[in-house]
Amino acid sequence: MARILVVEDNALNIKLFCDLLNAHGHETEPVTDSREALDAARKFKPDLVITDIQLPYVTGIELMELLRADEELKDVPIMAVTAYSAAGDDERIRAAGAQAYVSKPISVMRFAETVDQLLEGGRLVEGSNHSSQ
Ligand code: MN
Repeated sequence: MARILVVEDNALNIKLFCDLLNAHGHETEPVTDSREALDAARKFKPDLVITDIQLPYVTGIELMELLRADEELKDVPIMAVTAYSAAGDDERIRAAGAQAYVSKPISVMRFAETVDQLLEGGRLVEGSNHSSQ
């Protein structure tokens, strides 16, 4: 079980993502207003952040940059979810700090597999806490 912060402005999508993650035994913290995402992450101390890219106010790219600049959160894996996948998006999203991204509409299988991979590659496997490296 992991703690997963989910940032997504679309109400149906965020419900879908959280239902899916909860069904896999994870604890989720949904955030629909990206302006609240950094504070929510600091409080929730997630093992993984899933963020939409197309967000009003603070975009997914900007949010990833904020997370990467935060001493406590900089090593938390990030999975981006994006509705558009144009040439160059992959590099841009990874450069901002995402370890992986999936395209919307999501494949439930791929979404779940990507979450598992990121959690396995992260600190959960090592059993370490949230202290920075
Ligand atoms: Mn969106």
